[in-house]
Amino acid sequence: MSRLPAFDYSYRIQRAKNLMEERGVGALMLSVGADLPYFTGYEAMPLERLTMLVVPLDGVPVLVVPRLEAPRVDDRGSFEIRAWDETDDPAALSADLAGGGGRIALGDTTWSTFLLQLQALLPDAAFEDASTLTSELRMRKEPDEIRYLREAAEATDRVVERLESTPFSGRSEADLAAEVRMMTVEEGHDVATFDIVGSGPNAASPHHEPTDRIMENGDTVVVDFGGRHWGYCSDTTRTFSIGTPRPEVAAAYEVLQASQAAGRAAVAPGVTAASIDLAAREVIDAAGYGEFFFHRTGHGIGLEAHEHPYLVEGNELLLEAGMAFSIEPGIYRSGEWGMRLEDIVVCGETAVDELNRSERHLRVVD
Ligand code: ZN
Ligand code: ZN
Ligand code: ZN
Repeated sequence: MSRLPAFDYSYRIQRAKNLMEERGVGALMLSVGADLPYFTGYEAMPLERLTMLVVPLDGVPVLVVPRLEAPRVDDRGSFEIRAWDETDDPAALSADLAGGGGRIALGDTTWSTFLLQLQALLPDAAFEDASTLTSELRMRKEPDEIRYLREAAEATDRVVERLESTPFSGRSEADLAAEVRMMTVEEGHDVATFDIVGSGPNAASPHHEPTDRIMENGDTVVVDFGGRHWGYCSDTTRTFSIGTPRPEVAAAYEVLQASQAAGRAAVAPGVTAASIDLAAREVIDAAGYGEFFFHRTGHGIGLEAHEHPYLVEGNELLLEAGMAFSIEPGIYRSGEWGMRLEDIVVCGETAVDELNRSERHLRVVD
């Protein structure tokens, strides 16, 4: 949980209604997940007690919320609050508010138990993923959202700078990860949300969980971490070398850095999401490391650390000014070493707007 700013939630709900009308959707129903805070400023706890925002095409949106959670809801005037008591049936209440049949866009991460109840209550309704609507809005960031993303990125840049003078050798990955979390909060996040510290052969596993492995001279260490600042996420990766890097590591890192630079340089309104992936991948392929870069080049970021747009082969979505995403190529030699370089960028009016700006060279530490 993280505090959320006072955005213009009525405006966002109106924009959702416009899309619903365009697409013939009768109601939007949002429970746990990031869509709910996007439209209300309220983040529901993932509990067995149902919280559901019901936005009918015509009429006032209503937030159905357990009575004991209701005091946490900031009434921002853009929706009504309907608190339910322990003996009420919140699914029936939500179904009533959604109206009879037609198409209902339901939040992607709604618990299946609630979908099953709603399907039984509304046998004539056709349920579909809300993300097809909500991602249209959420992936095009408002200036204030970009401001929070930028502040979060700047905080992670400061952590990276501090890490360069932090000792690595002789410590466990888990120990360093705990320090990264602490710094993430100290430098300006409400909460640290994840930290990957992969050293030596562990660096070849992109989502490695920090272990008790003691880091030593000659290791490459991938540090990928982030937090939330006013609800907005950060996510950056730097690769460190404990002592002078081996020649093969130094050579591969040159390629990685060139690949990430090519990805950043390719960002512009009107190009496809896939073209960013291709621009970064071509550099790695050309150097002969293609098989060692086996994940997509990036993901959108906002209230969620991974959201639309995804920079991946086949995604023909055209980038627009205001879209925010990571560019994070990696090269992973199984059993030996790994490296990744990740920054958050925004598609600007004409070119890339870099939110992370800390230096991108292979960082040599003790
Ligand atoms: Zn990742
Ligand atoms: Zn990422
Ligand atoms: Zn990351």
